[in-house]
Amino acid sequence: MSAAEIAALMKKKAFDEVELSPRIQAGTDAMFGRHMTAAQVVDQIVADVRKNGDESLFYYTKLIDRVELTPENIRVTEEEFAEAEAEAIVKPEVKAALERAIANVMKFHEEQMPKTWLTNRPYGSLLGQKVTPVDSVGIYVPGGTAAYPSSVMMNACPAKVAGVPRIVMAVPPGKDGKVNPNVLVTAKLIGVTEIYKMGGAQAIAALAFGTATVPKVEKITGPGNIFVTLAKKAVIGHVDIDMLAGPSEILIVADDSANPTYLAADLLSQAEHDPLACAILITDSERVANAVGEEIEVQLAQLPRKEIAGTSLQQAGKIVLAKDMPTVIEMANLSAPEHLEIMTKAPFEIMPYIRNAGAMFLGAYSPEPLGDYYAGPNHVLPTGGTAKFYSVLNVETFMKKTSIIAYTAPALMAAADDIITLAEAEGLQAHANAIRKRVGK
Ligand code: NAD
Repeated sequence: MSAAEIAALMKKKAFDEVELSPRIQAGTDAMFGRHMTAAQVVDQIVADVRKNGDESLFYYTKLIDRVELTPENIRVTEEEFAEAEAEAIVKPEVKAALERAIANVMKFHEEQMPKTWLTNRPYGSLLGQKVTPVDSVGIYVPGGTAAYPSSVMMNACPAKVAGVPRIVMAVPPGKDGKVNPNVLVTAKLIGVTEIYKMGGAQAIAALAFGTATVPKVEKITGPGNIFVTLAKKAVIGHVDIDMLAGPSEILIVADDSANPTYLAADLLSQAEHDPLACAILITDSERVANAVGEEIEVQLAQLPRKEIAGTSLQQAGKIVLAKDMPTVIEMANLSAPEHLEIMTKAPFEIMPYIRNAGAMFLGAYSPEPLGDYYAGPNHVLPTGGTAKFYSVLNVETFMKKTSIIAYTAPALMAAADDIITLAEAEGLQAHANAIRKRVGK
């Protein structure tokens, strides 16, 4: 398989061209009373929530999620947090593991913190850059088909470390109108308490434009399904977003030293996410390629989610035998995978040659789920080849940079002629005057 073919496998359809599965399309058609693409559904929902606020937010939540929202019940209350605590305590090992994971994630992101700096220039002038957290952020935590406490952690921890004063969370309510207890407990552990029970495009629109009950935020982050992703795309400019992310991917680069059992387990760990997930192994070892193929059959048969994993492997699972390591590396760079595992004898010798990847996992004891939950680096990563231009979610995602310029009179005098020349070359006399008036030229 050529590098271009592998890159094509990773490069999914543009988000607004994604076709819904027949089951979801049928449900959507029934709800909206006519055939509509995901993009059309999202455009309608976003426009309506922008125009009508709560009325449309509540209407679409009732229509799609079958939950009756009101201004009184949309926000998670103290009692609901307490209930969640009580339920989560049934499994104390989950809470304890969460606490340790949160500590790791906070520590890692603290090390990422950018600094405000000033530097000296001639004649006593100063230049620099001030970093400031955004005033408010809306974190979207998916909740349609599963609950993701790890998404709470990976979005809220860097926002906390950045010092964002107002962190708001949106999470779709379950059929009983409640939020998953582990999601609430995780949010509380990190100190996020302003949580709205809303999901999908209507939640993103409410956060972007504000309604009577939901405050407008400056930035929206977090993963979600196609409706959430398209809504994030639709509100860019009114707010900033983190990135547009699609189904998960793993690409493993391996040599003859790699353990086929580990490689098969890691490929399956992505494949079980989603029928659209992508799991690829590229190796220069025929022995490894064959052994991984056999091992996948064995492990797949034992998985509770074998149907999802099996479909995903059929559609976008590949084991590729390349002629040598430089070819393997070039294929990886062209694919720009979300997760890149380097399972070779000397992974740090390969690492410098990797230009495009969301996150790299080096060596036999760094499997991808370690990064999903625990090690500390963020798991919100660019997918679909977008690691060529997007970065992993990080503390700077929640911060802005402002330049600082502080010249003294002698410094301005020394620069005056050049500035006046440039301003006049652009025909901007008032610009030139702002200098002339100060330096007497
Ligand atoms: P979700 O919260 O993203 O979506 C649920 C919402 O979608 C519902 O509240 C509903 O309002 C809306 N919706 C559902 N069907 C609709 C329809 N037919 N028309 C209009 N709106 C509709 O939850 P999900 O569906 O479970 O998807 C979660 C996604 O997030 C998955 O793709 C998962 O793989 C991904 N995810 C990614 C990461 C990561 O870090 N990359 C982490 C966790 C989850």
